[in-house]
Formats: sequence, structure tokens, C-alpha cells
Amino acid sequence: MRNLVPPLEPDFVDQAIENYRALVRIPTISRLGDRGTNWAPFEQFREDIAARYPQLHGSLSLEIVREHAMLFRWRGMTDTEPTVLMAHYDVVPVEDESAWTVPPFAADIVDVDGEPHLVARGSIDDKASLAGILAAVEQAIISGFTPRSDVYLAFTHNEEVLGDGTPSIVQLLEKRGVRPRLVIDEGGIVGESILGPVNADVVCIGVSEKGTGTLRLSLSAPGGHSAVPPLEEATVRLARAIVAIHDRGITPLLSDVNRRLIRTLGPHAPGPVAEAARLLDAGDEAGAIESFATASLNARAMVHTIPVTTVVSAGMTANAIPERASALVSLRIAPGHSPADVVDRVRQVIDDDGIAIEVIELKDASPVSPSEGAEWDLIVRHIHATYGDDVLVVPYVNNGGTDSRNYTGISDSVYRFSPYRMSLAQRESLHAIDERLPISSFVEGLTFYTSFVRDL
Ligand SMILES: [Zn+2]
Repeated sequence: MRNLVPPLEPDFVDQAIENYRALVRIPTISRLGDRGTNWAPFEQFREDIAARYPQLHGSLSLEIVREHAMLFRWRGMTDTEPTVLMAHYDVVPVEDESAWTVPPFAADIVDVDGEPHLVARGSIDDKASLAGILAAVEQAIISGFTPRSDVYLAFTHNEEVLGDGTPSIVQLLEKRGVRPRLVIDEGGIVGESILGPVNADVVCIGVSEKGTGTLRLSLSAPGGHSAVPPLEEATVRLARAIVAIHDRGITPLLSDVNRRLIRTLGPHAPGPVAEAARLLDAGDEAGAIESFATASLNARAMVHTIPVTTVVSAGMTANAIPERASALVSLRIAPGHSPADVVDRVRQVIDDDGIAIEVIELKDASPVSPSEGAEWDLIVRHIHATYGDDVLVVPYVNNGGTDSRNYTGISDSVYRFSPYRMSLAQRESLHAIDERLPISSFVEGLTFYTSFVRDL
């Protein structure tokens, strides 16, 4: 299974790292609503791609969508069953540059714990994938490789601000009748488990993502002077509702994806996940959920639809009883929970007819892509070729959302996976201070993409 491609040439690796750093140096910061975005770096970024990957730029067709999204088409021997490799080239802003070890757009290589890292905004999210894909395709073209079927590279400019880049590309592909057999976007990584201790490296591939929702709870009540309060003021009733939602929430459940994840990790995970696997085999589903949820906050989120109260408002001044009180409740809906049932459950646990529940937004979890079959096996084969046969590959449901959900209408196999090895600390640097990726991880990811694109 190993050595699907020969070891990477040192010159190729050096060039790929240099290009990766150059792309990270361009401050492509997206702003909400696109209005505040400075587009000059985005234009420079596209020019840089043309200059740094000349073979790719010369032989793939390029379509610019919504002024800044790039849709490259690499013609295969046939145009049936294409593959889409997604990445976004916008990054989130830097809140406080002075908190960084190095300037966030200098692309400096810094020794962290004796290992060279690229410390820069975008070094992980998502220019690592972008630079890996570009280098692998450039190299494949130089070596004379043509894919069996078309490969699209879909690089968007406003993922971080939930923009229209990806939806517009998907609309375009749909209009043309393109039905990708496989779509890959950022997501799960290689490395330490986010589910508590596991005696092996774990590779998580996102096969679905939770639905989302926002509810507004509100109530009106007579106001008045706080010197003579009513028996129960609006703020107390609202607080009671918030606590009820928090404490009684939504009944957790195990999806098939979670069952498979627990069974795969169980034999290698001392503690709650092993216990969950044992209980699952004994037919104690509720016990399995309970045990699994204690493994980590990520594990807990995976088996729950968790309502979280985020914005609370009431009152105008210290000595007046508020006439109105309201709260926003954010929902992440697990696959298997219907959004309508979730709202009913919230209504039921609040148990106060005076509190109105308004649905501001409500979206189902995305369809679940299969964790078996040709497309799944293709990814897994190249994971093992890159990382060895001992890594544990598991499907999971992303707790957050990605742009790839847009593709689920035109493809049955949409996977969220970034082929980079990261520690939990490195992973948590994403969107944060000193975002960083070890150079050795970049090279491993490059190895994955190099072997993967030559199997398309
Ligand atoms: Zn991202």
C-alpha cells in the first residue's frame, strides 16, 4: 500500500514551501458583507498563482466567479464523474499584532519546541491545503500526467464571512449538469485525538456537519418601580427558561457515524471511549452515549444538539422593572434530530406560555456521505500511503460548518479532510494568535496530495 508515488524530490519540496510562504504573505483578509474587504491583495494573490504555478496556469482553464473566486478545470480523459478539490484563500483578521511572536503576514519560519514552523495567519486555514493542492497538480502536469476524469480546483475568497463564493460555484456547476463523484474540503486532520486519549494517530474525515439554528425567546410583562416588584419579573422568568434549556436540553443520540467512530477507536482508547464501545456492544445505547460524552467537550458536542444562550437583553435602568426581556439561543443540530422536533422540545422544557419562541433561522444537518465505497476508499488508501497503516481513519460529524455543505445537493460524497498532522495546540492556533503549522506537516500533506491527485 505504501509508496504509491516515489519519494518527493528535494527541489520540488523546497519550491513548494517557498510558494506556500509566498501565498501566506499576501494579506487576503475578508470582511463581513465583503464591503470592508480590501480587494487589492486578492488580485495580487491570483497573479501570484499564475506566476508561481505556470504549468497549472497554462494548461487548466480558469473561470473567475463573483469577481474573485477561482474555478480551475483540469481536463481528464473523460468529463464524467469529476472530482472537486476545494480551498479558500481568504483569512480571518488579526486582532492584536503585538500579541504575535512574529508579524502575522511575514511568513517567518520559527523554531517551536525545536521544530521549524510556519507561524502566520493562514498557515493552516486554509492556505496549507491550497498550496498543497497547487504544488501537487503543478508537479503532476510537469510529469505528463492526465487525470482519468476532470478535476476542478475551487478556490474561494469569502468562506470566513459565509460569502457567496462557494454557493455561486455550485450553482454554476449544477446548471452545467456537473455531478462530482467526490468533493474534498477542509476539515478533520491527522494527529492527536480530539476525543480524549487514543493510543494511535487518528485521522478524522468529516462526512456530515451539524445543522444550525437561532431562536429568539422573548416576553413582555408590566414594568414599574423596582421598589414594589411583582412576584416574578420578566428577567427571572427568562432566566428560568434559559436554565431549563441548559439543564434539560435535547435528548442526545448516536448516529451511525458516531457508532462507527466509537467502535473503531474503542480498542485503542483507554477510558470513556473504550467504555462506550463496550456498552454499545452490550446493547446499552444510553450508557454508551453517556460515557462517550465525558471523553471531551468535542465528544459531548458530537452526540448532542446543544442549545446555547448567547445574547441576553432586558431592562433600561437599575430601578425600573423591565417591560421586555429576550434571549438568543444558538443551536447546532445533530444528524438524526429534526429541526422542528428540536424547537418543540425547547418549547416543552421552557414550560412558560408567556415566553414567545421565534425561529430566526433553522437548517437541517447536512446529508451524511458514505464511510465506505470507492470514494471513501480512495482517500483512505492515500492516507495510509502517506501516514502508514497504523493510523486509525474514522468518519465524524463536524461540529462546526464548512462551505462544502453547498455541494451536498450535487454530490453524494462530500468529505471534510485536511491531510496535515497537527497537535491539539497547533490545531487551536487556527483563527488565533500564532497560527502555525510545522514544516514537516506541510511536507506530509504535500506527499498526500501528490499521490492522491495522480489517482484521479
Ligand atoms: Zn477555513
